[in-house]
Amino acid sequence: MVRSRRFRSTFFYTAFVMLRPAVFLDKDGTLLEDVPYNIDPSLMRLAPGAREALNLLATQPFELFVISNQSGVALGKFPRAALKNVEAQLTHMFAESGAMFSGAYWCPHHPDGTVAPYSTACDCRKPAPGLLLRAAREHRLDLARSWFIGDILDDVEAGNRAGCRTILLDNGHETEWIEGPQRVPTARAADLHEAARIIANAMEAAAPPAPAGEETAQ
Ligand SMILES: [Zn+2]
Repeated sequence: MVRSRRFRSTFFYTAFVMLRPAVFLDKDGTLLEDVPYNIDPSLMRLAPGAREALNLLATQPFELFVISNQSGVALGKFPRAALKNVEAQLTHMFAESGAMFSGAYWCPHHPDGTVAPYSTACDCRKPAPGLLLRAAREHRLDLARSWFIGDILDDVEAGNRAGCRTILLDNGHETEWIEGPQRVPTARAADLHEAARIIANAMEAAAPPAPAGEETAQ
């Protein structure tokens, strides 16, 4: 019996303590106002509802990551090193909203790029799930308890293929609507704040009930 209890506690430790859930955020058009190929920190602005969303997500047990295609590297519009400044500004913007930035994962590739070694097909350009899988490996994340929020169906597909739940922002940025079995979001939201509320509500619904006696103690 002792042996089996030890096995069980090891299992629970591995499943519920070591692996943390994350909220993955697309950058342009989801977290930030979309400024194409921008790497200037002074032009980075939070999208509507983003400040409130970060504030709410900071009260939840999620690590927060930015997941973004940055084909500007492969297309020669900016050097990969410029993304370091973007990451520093994101850290600052998250902190101003009361949240902690866990990191960014960028896909610098594009099959029609001009800059070696980035001008190639890859497994990390969304809708592929490579960036999410890498984040999960490097940060011990539980993808099944994680969420991906984006403004186009390529984001939804990347999140679904990684095994996350997904939220599509209905903010008019998706214009092609190429549908498919992997391109159906778990939920839709008008902006990032509503998306964060959906996640917080799901956490509350999934929380185990309070231990017997606790709620009646007066
Ligand atoms: Zn890539």
